[in-house]
Amino acid sequence: MPLVKECVFCKIIRGEIPCCKVYEDDLILAFLDIAPFNIGHTVIIPKDHQNSITTLDEIYANRIIKMAPKIGVALMRTINAEGFNLFLNNGSVAGQTVWHCHMHVLPRFAGDKVVISSEPMKYDSMDQMAELAGKLFNKLNA
Ligand code: 5GP
Ligand code: ZN
Repeated sequence: MPLVKECVFCKIIRGEIPCCKVYEDDLILAFLDIAPFNIGHTVIIPKDHQNSITTLDEIYANRIIKMAPKIGVALMRTINAEGFNLFLNNGSVAGQTVWHCHMHVLPRFAGDKVVISSEPMKYDSMDQMAELAGKLFNKLNA
């Protein structure tokens, strides 16, 4: 899919909007998020307008997953982050706001203000849990 005129990340790829680039190759671009959850928060994007991880061409997915931990390690070495989260919001219900698929690399520091939490739920029974796993297994292993 070509770059899209009004997409903010396509504009960054075209150089119409500036970005603080941290990595670039033939397939992907990584730059600092403009509204970081922590200093160093980075997003990695394919250099092609693909809006969802579900349809992202494997060639981009492979490169993004290869570079994400390298960027995480670079953040640890450069700003003394002690770890990092990798996450990708897919769909508005999951928090996606830019419809150009991207992976977040979020450096973490002891005592930082980042909150990634949810009250754990419980399955009604082991049978319910096993039934769901079975359905998923059948779909994924068909
Ligand atoms: P999402 O919520 O879709 O997973 O993440 C989109 C991210 O892109 C947000 O964290 C947001 O701050 C970042 N973002 C949106 N517009 C721009 C921009 O123009 N420049 C940069 N560097 N980041 C942006
Ligand atoms: Zn785009």
